[in-house]
Amino acid sequence: MTKLDDAIDRVSRNIAQTGALTKEASRRYEQMFADFRVELDRTLDASETLADAAQATMAMLEQASNLLRDSFPNPQPRACRDQCSACCHLFVSVPPGVTELIASHIKATFTAAQTNALLDRLRVAANEIEQFTKTNEVRARCPLLDEQDRCSIYDMRPLTCRAFTSADAGLCHAMVFGDSAQQTARIDQDPGHYRLHIEATEALQNLATRRGLEGRQKGFVHALLDRLDNGLENGPASA
Ligand code: SF4
Repeated sequence: MTKLDDAIDRVSRNIAQTGALTKEASRRYEQMFADFRVELDRTLDASETLADAAQATMAMLEQASNLLRDSFPNPQPRACRDQCSACCHLFVSVPPGVTELIASHIKATFTAAQTNALLDRLRVAANEIEQFTKTNEVRARCPLLDEQDRCSIYDMRPLTCRAFTSADAGLCHAMVFGDSAQQTARIDQDPGHYRLHIEATEALQNLATRRGLEGRQKGFVHALLDRLDNGLENGPASA
């Protein structure tokens, strides 16, 4: 064997070994999401109510999402910052359990005056949303945003709000407040983080279906308005 043959042999082995390791890493990456879903489904099946299931989902998502970000190289940059609320003017949908959880949280933490003011804002926002024919065209300030542009239910915010991330706040601002051409801008999502939230949303939908309840997602503003308007004293609507 010549020196050239030896060199080619070493390079070939190196490439083959690295390729095999990369394929294995890719397989385990996929498996990681499947395992997350299995653990989440098991946890949700043990939940007494859909609201409990939504709360457990948020806790698991928060942990998994933070670990994902801390454990992998080259995390996608995030421009999301306190009081940056452009995305809080987009349409928010919620899977089963989330509205019930948030309504109970509001009942436990808002004063009567705050709840009445929220109801007024929800009615205004619901009316604004109804003027749009497509959900992706909706631009309406979320009634849960406070006067400082902070989410007033941040720890309980819907999964959609948790899923959305952006590397460019200027792009978000243009998409929400810009002219019609800018409003079609695409905001690239952090893929792993987003995927966890898709799995979690589906898990809550499937749980509701397994319990013989409605599994589809609903518009957050209308669902919360309906829930609060119908009185929280009636207790959880779904078990
Ligand atoms: S619930 Fe909170 S995070 Fe979600 S859109 Fe409303 S204000 Fe923003």
